[in-house]
Amino acid sequence: MLGVGDEDGAPLGVHIRRTAPRPDCERCGGLLWSDGEREVELVDLPAFGRPVRLVWHKRRWRCPQPRCSAGTVTEQDPEIAPPRGKLTARAGRWATRQAGRARPVDEVAAELGCSWHPVNASVRRWGSALLEADTARISEVEALGLDETLMGRRGRFRAKSWSTSIVDVGRPAARHSPPPHR
Ligand SMILES: [Zn+2]
Repeated sequence: MLGVGDEDGAPLGVHIRRTAPRPDCERCGGLLWSDGEREVELVDLPAFGRPVRLVWHKRRWRCPQPRCSAGTVTEQDPEIAPPRGKLTARAGRWATRQAGRARPVDEVAAELGCSWHPVNASVRRWGSALLEADTARISEVEALGLDETLMGRRGRFRAKSWSTSIVDVGRPAARHSPPPHR
C-alpha cells in the first residue's frame, strides 16, 4: 500500500502498487522496459462506514524489441480486479452475494458510494461465472412447465412485474423432498 487519501465528503482513497517482479514480454519472451504507470480508480468495499476507492497505480511495460508487436502493456491482476472492471474483485463478489439475497442493486450501490451501472455490470459478470461453474444445477429435462407469478407492481403506473419460472415437471422434485427415512 502506498497511502490513504482522506478528504471530507469524498470516499477514502486507498493507493496501491503491486510489487510483483517485472514480467517477461508475453509475445517474444524478452525483457520489458518500464513505461511509467497509470492510476485506475476502482470501487472497493466500504471501510469505517465510508465508501472506499482503491487507486491502483498500474505499472506499464514496453517491449523494446523492434520486431515485436507487443508495444506497451498495462499490468493486470484478476485477484485485484477483472480486466476493465469498475469494482474490485472483492467488492464485486460481495455485491453479487447481496444481489443473490434479493437486495436491490441501487441499495448495494448506495452502500458502495457509486452509481447503479458499475454494480449491475459487476453482478452480471460474477453471477454468470457462478452459473457457468454450477454445472450440476441443470440436468436432463423430461417435461417443461412454465409458471408466471405476479411479483409486485413498480413505478408511477403500478405496472405489474411478473416472474416467469421454468420447471421440469416430469421429474420428482428431488431437491425439495425430505431425505428418506432409515
Ligand atoms: Zn516483445
